[in-house]
Amino acid sequence: MSWRPGSVSAGFFHEGELVGVLTTQPLDRVLDYKAPEGGCFEGAFVEVPLGPRKVLGVIWGSGRGDWDISKVRSVIRVLDVPPMREDMREFLMKAGAYTLTSMPAMLRLATRAPGLGDPPSMRKIYKLGHGEVDRMTPAREKVLAVLEEFADQVFTLKELAEQAGVGASVIKGLVAKDAVFEQDTPRDTPFARLDPNLPGKELTEDQASAVARLSQGNGYATTLLKGVTGSGKTEVYLEAVAACLRAGRQALVLLPEIALTSEFLTRVKARFGAKPAEWHSGVTMTERRRVWRMVGEGGAQLVVGARSALFLPYRDLGLIVVDEEHDTSYKQEDGVLYNARDMAVLRASVCAARVVLASATPSLESWANAEAGKYQRLELTSRFGAAVLPDMRAIDMRSEDLPGSRWVSPSLQHEISARVAVGEQSLIFLNRRGYAPVTLCRACGHQIGCEHCDARMVEHRFLKRLMCHQCGETKPMPTICPSCGAEDRLAPVGPGVERMGEEVSALFPEARVAVLSSDLYGTARQLKAQIEAIAAGDADIIIGTQLVAKGHNFPLLTLVGVIDADLGLQGSDLRAAERTFQLMRQVAGRAGRAEKKGLALLQTFQPEHPVIRAILSGDEEGFWAAEAAEREQTGMPPYGRMAGIVLSGPEVGPVFDLGNHLARNDAPLRKLGAQVYGPAPAPIARVRGRHRVRLLVKAPKGVPLQAALTQWVKGVKLKGDLRLAIDIDPQSFY
Ligand code: ADP
Ligand code: ZN
Repeated sequence: MSWRPGSVSAGFFHEGELVGVLTTQPLDRVLDYKAPEGGCFEGAFVEVPLGPRKVLGVIWGSGRGDWDISKVRSVIRVLDVPPMREDMREFLMKAGAYTLTSMPAMLRLATRAPGLGDPPSMRKIYKLGHGEVDRMTPAREKVLAVLEEFADQVFTLKELAEQAGVGASVIKGLVAKDAVFEQDTPRDTPFARLDPNLPGKELTEDQASAVARLSQGNGYATTLLKGVTGSGKTEVYLEAVAACLRAGRQALVLLPEIALTSEFLTRVKARFGAKPAEWHSGVTMTERRRVWRMVGEGGAQLVVGARSALFLPYRDLGLIVVDEEHDTSYKQEDGVLYNARDMAVLRASVCAARVVLASATPSLESWANAEAGKYQRLELTSRFGAAVLPDMRAIDMRSEDLPGSRWVSPSLQHEISARVAVGEQSLIFLNRRGYAPVTLCRACGHQIGCEHCDARMVEHRFLKRLMCHQCGETKPMPTICPSCGAEDRLAPVGPGVERMGEEVSALFPEARVAVLSSDLYGTARQLKAQIEAIAAGDADIIIGTQLVAKGHNFPLLTLVGVIDADLGLQGSDLRAAERTFQLMRQVAGRAGRAEKKGLALLQTFQPEHPVIRAILSGDEEGFWAAEAAEREQTGMPPYGRMAGIVLSGPEVGPVFDLGNHLARNDAPLRKLGAQVYGPAPAPIARVRGRHRVRLLVKAPKGVPLQAALTQWVKGVKLKGDLRLAIDIDPQSFY
């Protein structure tokens, strides 16, 4: 292998020396082993025996020697991958300590690719050979023509057959005659080189000065890049990527939604001449393995991906971009609870990289960090080119004449008609998937709920099923009320996007209506194709969930109608105002991207609500300042710290008992001046058949909260099937 171990890790252990190995198994310590034949470097990925099994591990340092030496076994083998670098190990330890996650779990996050230690798998590729073809056919000619035209590309059998439009047997026939050459090559090949010196777009003055400031200095720094949708944030951070690549370092761009990647990949290809590596749930296992290895060996310069791409073994990471940094999907809500935005900053600080947090509507956390001078702040104030920000107005639903079970107000309908007439697009925004959020029995009033969760089942008419949005359970739509047995009395209540589709189609029979919701498309590819078709003008009216709020370009769109602007304001969530503000501004920003000015209309029953007023007036700084002042006064994040403890179990009694026990024994927290609230049933008190009870800890800023939490829960014995999860900086309170 080509990496130089001596340059990436200092310690070396000779055969037989005691080494400490961190494994991916749920154990609370590093285990002692003997270094294998040939020795091993600190950080090396190894296979070790554990009981009857072989498990993956990393040489974490020297052994502790507190184990019966006669029982210490030997490392089985060192895997053929670069050792884990010092900065990665530091990152895993700090991230683990911050999120109160065990090191084995952190290591699992960092090794999420199959067969890391396997020798590179081979595949066959096809090239032009020298043999004579005695009997030329049109199909054979096509194959040879393709190979001649694309002489420097590699083709698999499938790719070549596709490109030439012939069957695989034609190619095999040519191979038999040596006219086509078949060759085995390793599958884990480097990614195509990106060329940062290809010409970029000519930047506006605003953009150019942002780029200049982003390229100042080296080493760790975080920059909040704020700019309205369409102002060229992506153009600006692509230049930061270019600067990073020129310096020979690697870059990572995090996107909140897989559906956004393809548009971004196209832009990368246009800017740098080739596509970057991709890392997200839509990537095949073989490709994951390739990315993991190439990132480590330097064969991938740029990775575009989801939050877990932070845990790839970069050889030299110089830049992390977090696009749409305020997006809630950056908070992992399952398994290891971490916020990718915060972990990006941590990752960058240990490897002297830069962070760019890009958003039109930053999170209050990032806004406050910029105010406090911890982050640099750059602003793009105007949209690129002729595009201007949309006008925003409220539609006061109290004075609209609207029959029940209809949601498009006459005022909104009027504006849509005007757009349809001139061939412009309208977007109707409703953040509710499915047909109707509630299915009600008209005979007895029963609402159909999930059997495993305290949640109502949502009708998905497209799928002809009811679905629980908590646990994903589905069942066929019943015809008989499960409670009173009445027949054909079940009725949908309230709107989802599918139902809006019906209403809008009825209102505008001549218009082409498209419903965009992630669950309506089988694959990310289909969704992407649909988004592209719509952007190209394939629909007059788009109905969408928050999926459409996230960064897609719809150049023909000039009107956005928000069906229920009050939706996010209900509930007691700390971030309700912030979220609504962000989402509404984001959605409104979809309108008027090209030359035509856009209009955004918010249907609301409370037009004088301060948040609605802030959204309409566009006084962002005013909104943030007011919101910040309120949080500061109440000691809420980011001016204080919070942690959520969720206890769960199959029986409600023991879960509450445990909660009460914790609440009574809160001395370690009280010592810090922290308060413990609860136990209380979590807002969704039952999920997947487990009862959930929640405690909230509120602490002053700057206290050692993690240490106190660890001490607090240390004595707890989780009997039976009880579980305890700690969520540092909780984002949602469900
Ligand atoms: P944002 O990321 O802030 O939403 P984008 O970078 O996507 O903005 O820019 C919006 C649109 O304007 C894109 O189509 C982009 O290519 C174009 N654009 C932005 N800046 C320039 C520029 N300097 N020259 C040419 N096109 C630009
Ligand atoms: Zn459920």
